[in-house]
Amino acid sequence: MAQLLERSWFAVPLLALVACGGVRPDPGQEPDFVVRDAAVVLRTDAAFTRSVDFPARVESTLDAALRYWGGSWSRLAGTTIVFEGTSHVACAGNDGSTGCYDGDIRLSTQDAGRTVSCVEATVLVHEVGHAVIGDADHADPRWMDFTALAEDLVGRPGYDASGPASCDPVANVWRHPPRG
Ligand SMILES: [Zn+2]
Repeated sequence: MAQLLERSWFAVPLLALVACGGVRPDPGQEPDFVVRDAAVVLRTDAAFTRSVDFPARVESTLDAALRYWGGSWSRLAGTTIVFEGTSHVACAGNDGSTGCYDGDIRLSTQDAGRTVSCVEATVLVHEVGHAVIGDADHADPRWMDFTALAEDLVGRPGYDASGPASCDPVANVWRHPPRG
């Protein structure tokens, strides 16, 4: 199983690099874990990323996001999802983004200077939207229609440096300037 995952993992990123020319995370960096065929890389010490339920929370949030946007898991095969400890991530020359999709997904684990307490409070669902429908201009009404999806994600535990915290998933889908 591990071998299979590793093999498919090496084959796909090269194609993605050629296809989108995006800024990839360190080439050859080993994922911290793999969800289906998507790799997850941690560059943050946010407490929620160190919680034992984190891989399952990433998977269930991705699953909810894919259902919301009408995509399948194959859309994320070969994608690397990087959680960054910085307040912003690099995104096609736009330094003010909290998330980015350019073939891979990069996410800040901060919101307005504070470390968020759960994966549902990052902009992961938003970036999965770009992976599934593109729409850099955010013209699709679903960018602003978060209620149905939020119901799948509310009520989950959060974590901060001192222990349990609330988990508010509401920031996950929102309109923002293009190219995020
Ligand atoms: Zn966006």
